[in-house]
Amino acid sequence: MAEVIDGRAIARALDEQTKAEVEAFVAAGKNRPGLTVILVGDDPASEVYVRHKVKACERVGMRSTEHRLPAKTTQKELLGLIDRVNASEHVHGILVQVPLPDHIDERAVIDAIDPAKDVDGFHPVNVGRLSTGTGGIWPCTPFGCIKLLHSVEPDLTGLDALVIGRSNIVGKPVAMMLIAEGCTVTVAHSKTRNLPEKARQADIIVAAVGIPELVKGDWVKEGAIVIDVGINRTPGKDGKDKLVGDVAYDEVQHARAVTPVPGGVGPMTIAVLLANTVQAAKALH
Ligand code: NAD
Repeated sequence: MAEVIDGRAIARALDEQTKAEVEAFVAAGKNRPGLTVILVGDDPASEVYVRHKVKACERVGMRSTEHRLPAKTTQKELLGLIDRVNASEHVHGILVQVPLPDHIDERAVIDAIDPAKDVDGFHPVNVGRLSTGTGGIWPCTPFGCIKLLHSVEPDLTGLDALVIGRSNIVGKPVAMMLIAEGCTVTVAHSKTRNLPEKARQADIIVAAVGIPELVKGDWVKEGAIVIDVGINRTPGKDGKDKLVGDVAYDEVQHARAVTPVPGGVGPMTIAVLLANTVQAAKALH
């Protein structure tokens, strides 16, 4: 049986560490680390994500501020708010919840965030820093994947890694992080030929596609570590929606370790967001 990588437990441990760092920071007489979350419009899924993030801040003793703006907010108004939070000494992390309404250019908004407060790690400066191995703030879900891999194997040097998916938010950054870990990295995507064959070579597979159970048991070599980023809603037997990953979980029990969905990568994203905010607070002081 493959080891189940327990993302919930690993995220809880990271939260404990973050909480201790928050208290040490405050005890040293500095402003309590604070995250600002900006939500434009009333997308119900985004509302839930924002609520989770605010609650998570409370859990680790961090300040949180929410800015809920109506869907008709103009880009100029949003950029004005970003200017103000960029300048606030109480704000160490800024997160703009996506998707934004169609009339707002997402890229212009991300570019306007102070890179030192860009705790999502999507600003071009942080993307560039990750790619050049010069630090920066690393995006939450991919960094969470690396932390999960480390829980199984602290030294990834020399391993062959296959990343399936090349998005800016998961595939590309996780590939950069694996390169930094000393892995030999292949990035597969929708145009890749002979994907199962490539997967069978890999010591590490990170699946970030969005296709339910794309990765089959016979794609995974014995002893590989499998990180499943996918979150797909499919109709369950009881008629209710069920969450499944990009990996056929039951078929990969010959792997060394695998993340479940839910309870694997998912819980890591917010835990890393909080950890990034404390690191940003330290760097800003
Ligand atoms: P995306 O749609 O932006 O990118 C998907 C990638 O998969 C693309 O690069 C595409 O080329 C590739 N792809 C599509 N079909 C393929 C195929 N048949 N074979 C190989 N590659 C193929 O998606 P994303 O934003 O990177 O997210 C990927 C998945 O991860 C989604 O299920 C998403 O819900 C999930 N996700 C989870 C978290 C989390 O916190 N756990 C965070 C972000 C995304």
